[in-house]
Amino acid sequence: MLALVAPELSMAPSSSVSVPTGRLLIDGEFRPSHDLATFEIHNPATGELLSTAALGTVEDAKAAVDAARAAFRGWAATPAPERGEILGRAAQLVHAHADELARIVTLEEGKALAEARGEVGAAYATVSYYSGEGRRLVSNVVPSDQRDKLTYSVRKPLGVATIITPWNFPAMIPMWNLCPALVAGNTVVLKPASYTPLTAFRLVELFHEAGVPKGVLNFVTGPGGKIGDALAQNPGVNVLAFTGETLTGRHLAEINGRLVRRQVLELGGKNPLIVAADAPLEAAVPSALWSAFSNAGQKCTAASRIIVERPVLKAFTEAFVAAAAKLRVGPGIEPGTEVGPLVDRSGLEKVEQYVRYGLDEGAELLLGGHRLSDGARARGHFHEPTIFTGTNSMRISQDEIFGPVTTIIPADGLDQAVEIANDVRYGLAAAVYTRDLRSAMRAVERMEAAVTFVNHGPVGIEVQAPFGGTKDSGFGRELGEAGIEDYTEKKTVYLDYSYAKRPWYYPWT
Ligand code: NDP
Repeated sequence: MLALVAPELSMAPSSSVSVPTGRLLIDGEFRPSHDLATFEIHNPATGELLSTAALGTVEDAKAAVDAARAAFRGWAATPAPERGEILGRAAQLVHAHADELARIVTLEEGKALAEARGEVGAAYATVSYYSGEGRRLVSNVVPSDQRDKLTYSVRKPLGVATIITPWNFPAMIPMWNLCPALVAGNTVVLKPASYTPLTAFRLVELFHEAGVPKGVLNFVTGPGGKIGDALAQNPGVNVLAFTGETLTGRHLAEINGRLVRRQVLELGGKNPLIVAADAPLEAAVPSALWSAFSNAGQKCTAASRIIVERPVLKAFTEAFVAAAAKLRVGPGIEPGTEVGPLVDRSGLEKVEQYVRYGLDEGAELLLGGHRLSDGARARGHFHEPTIFTGTNSMRISQDEIFGPVTTIIPADGLDQAVEIANDVRYGLAAAVYTRDLRSAMRAVERMEAAVTFVNHGPVGIEVQAPFGGTKDSGFGRELGEAGIEDYTEKKTVYLDYSYAKRPWYYPWT
């Protein structure tokens, strides 16, 4: 069984869960879309219709931004500790509803229930962490050049934050952005991915119940190309946080540039895990397994390239393939499932396409390579955990497949392993397994990734540490203090209490 990395909450398991019907939240009112249209959400494990959500319109998107603008002044003026207290109540509600939330995640996104529980644990940790930030939004006093003068800077919220999130972590990623934005005094419009709007809707209901005032948190659902674009194009939005594909991020960055607006972009990844000749294989194998195949590989931090020094290539490959062959693939809601389905048919077809690219380019298929459609898997989007061995120039090594596919790439020494690790357009996460601390730290120094791991990962993000990407993986950092930086700007105050006539030049020249 794979080990969970995120803190799993202790939950009283409920045998069933009622899946909500998604509505919009605009100006404190839960309501259908402007023209009453809805869209369907299907269970990726069974194809069954789970529920519907409001198909928001461009008018709804505008109304959400208007409501957020109107609420901004009051929320920004609310003492930060009071904002933190509201988040604290939201954290308690997330904790109390953790099992329900985890089941919704599994039903709409597909991941194994144990993993969904870990994700909800991480979402809870995020709300809890940022509730405390309400009492820690400290500013700086800087030494002044002159006597009787106080020079200081205060953190100010930016205004309206629009947050657009992907489907692969439907509980955690909205919280990563919503919480720092709110506690810092911004008002929010959240637009989740259309495959998974129900988890975010339920979380928004809990925040509403926790006492977030009218207009401070708004929620719209509908197609990204229409609703997301309408939100991005709205000049009333002061900061746009986007997590998703690099292509979408590039499009949004152009709009943000034109509007001279703050942005946070968390984009794709093609993450290397280096296994050095002296690596502790007993730790490297399960970690690579979890990182490559949990959430069916649909993770921006997935170990999709495993770079192995030749002296341990055979031992690592045999152990890794044997462990992957034992993974239980099935509906995430069933006990014992370790790998769930892809989120939809197009995701499955993309994986199949990349398996063909791999074979056409001469990669050797060591495990898997096929969709699974027997028994309980007949109507879902399941694919075997798939392992290739190949070179770094192949498409399977360069493109983000976002599925249960990883490639083992041999390397002659650690220096070459690091070169291979860096030879990709992405720069999100990277890991190295070695018993030699000096080698590890040299690799950490040189690996072009914003999040690096030694004898761990690339998986297991902690809310109190900054997270983000370099190169085509985006820029800006989320989480920890960086999350507060994303949603605030500094205002500097020069306070002269001398009442004296001052020279305009530096006093000591
Ligand atoms: P997409 O870019 O397709 O979608 C992400 C979000 O953007 C969705 O809410 C989507 O809405 C919306 N969207 C789509 N088109 C537009 C547009 N033109 N304008 C505004 N919004 C738009 O990504 P996926 O949902 O497919 O997510 C997977 C990607 O996310 C992967 O590349 C992965 O690596 C990345 N990711 C990055 C992380 C990181 O921290 N670096 C973390 C997790 C994922 P709709 O669903 O309605 O299309």
